[in-house]
Amino acid sequence: MREGITRLMREKHLDAVLVADGANMRYLSGFTGETGYLYLSAGQQTVLTDSRYTLQAQEEASGFEVLEVSREKGYGELLLELSKQEAIGRLGFEDQVMIYGTVEKLKEKLPQDLEWVALGLELAKLRRVKTQEEIKRIARAEEIGDQAFTYLLGELRPGVTEREIAAKLEYYFKTHGAEGISFPSIVASGLHSAMPHATPSGKRLEKGDFITLDFGCRYEGYCSDMTRTVVLGKANERQREIYRIVREAQEAGLGAVRAGVSGAQIDRAARDVIEKAGYGEYFGHALGHSVGLEIHERPALSWLDETILEPGMIETVEPGVYVPGFGGVRIEDLVVVTEEGCRNLTRSPKELVEL
Ligand code: ZN
Ligand code: ZN
Repeated sequence: MREGITRLMREKHLDAVLVADGANMRYLSGFTGETGYLYLSAGQQTVLTDSRYTLQAQEEASGFEVLEVSREKGYGELLLELSKQEAIGRLGFEDQVMIYGTVEKLKEKLPQDLEWVALGLELAKLRRVKTQEEIKRIARAEEIGDQAFTYLLGELRPGVTEREIAAKLEYYFKTHGAEGISFPSIVASGLHSAMPHATPSGKRLEKGDFITLDFGCRYEGYCSDMTRTVVLGKANERQREIYRIVREAQEAGLGAVRAGVSGAQIDRAARDVIEKAGYGEYFGHALGHSVGLEIHERPALSWLDETILEPGMIETVEPGVYVPGFGGVRIEDLVVVTEEGCRNLTRSPKELVEL
C-alpha cells in the first residue's frame, strides 16, 4: 500500500500528503474510523483523529503514530507541529473530498508559504487494481449476496411490502456473516421498477409485478453488488421481451470485458444490443462501475470513461431497460477483469424467474 503513495509523492514532488477520504485512510493505514486525517511524509505516518477513535486507531493502524485533537489543539495546530518537524514545502490534499471551508481553516493555521497541491482522485487510483486478498473478500461478499437472493425468492409473495423485503434482506446479511449492507437496498416492484434507483416503499407486491432487487453487503470492509429482476406470477409477452433484451445486452457486456479494453468500449457493446432492439432511450445510465471498499469506484464502464481495464480490477455489468408506466429490468453481475476476459463472481441464475 505504501509503495503507491511513495511513487505518487515522488512524481508530484510532494513532501507530505494529507489523506481525508475514509476509504483511502482505511486502505493506506487500516484505520476504519473514517474520521480525521492521515498525514504521510518521508519520515512520518500519523493518524490524526478525535478521542472517540483514538483507541481504535491505535489498534488498527499498525506502524502509525496516533495524535488526538483536544480543546487546545485542533487539526490545524497538530498539522503545524508535524510540518515543523520536517521541511514541508508541498502538501498534497484531496480537493475532491475535503470541504472548502475546512481547507480554508487549515490554511490559516499552517505556514502561508506552504504549497497546497490538489491531488484530484489520485489516491483513489491506488485502489483500482485489487490484490488477491481484496478479491477474496469481495467474492465472499458476493457469495453471501447470492445466498440472500435464494432466500429472498421464498419471501416474495403478494401482499408483502417492498420495505419488508429490504428489511429481511438486511437482517439476512447481518445474520449470515456480513457486516451489513454496502448501499441502501433497492426493491422496486411493478411501476416502481421503471425507476432505476427506487427507494423501497410501503407498496405491496402484486401478481404480475416485475420486482427488481439490487443489493449488496460488506465483508471485512469490502462491498458486493448484484441485481436480479423477477416476475411475481406469469410474465406477459412484453415483460419477456424486455427481459430477453437486457439479458442479451448483459451477455454482450460480459463478453466484452477484458484487460486492455476501455470502459467506454464495453458500455458500447451492451448498449448496441439495447439500441438495436429499439429500447435505447430507456437505458440512461452507464453499464457499470468498479467496486471495492466503496460501492461506486472508478473506472466506470461508461461512455465517459476511457480508462483501459487492467487485470485485478472489479467491475459490475448492469444494463437495464426502464419503461415509464410499464416497468423495468436490470441484471447485474460482479466480475474480476483478467487478461483473457473476466471471472464472474455472481452465481445466481439469470433465466427469468416466475414466482
Ligand atoms: Zn447494484
Ligand atoms: Zn451497481
